[in-house]
Amino acid sequence: MAETLKLKKKWRCTVCGYACNADEAPESCPECYAPREAFVEE
Ligand SMILES: [Zn+2]
Repeated sequence: MAETLKLKKKWRCTVCGYACNADEAPESCPECYAPREAFVEE
């Protein structure tokens, strides 16, 4: 299984659709303040 830690992932908020690129999902959505659990990897 290849390591992809150097590559940023794309995350999308399932509540408002906000998307960002980061290694990990943000602690909370800057748009709707949904918790990290609301983010899914794309
Ligand atoms: Zn959101």
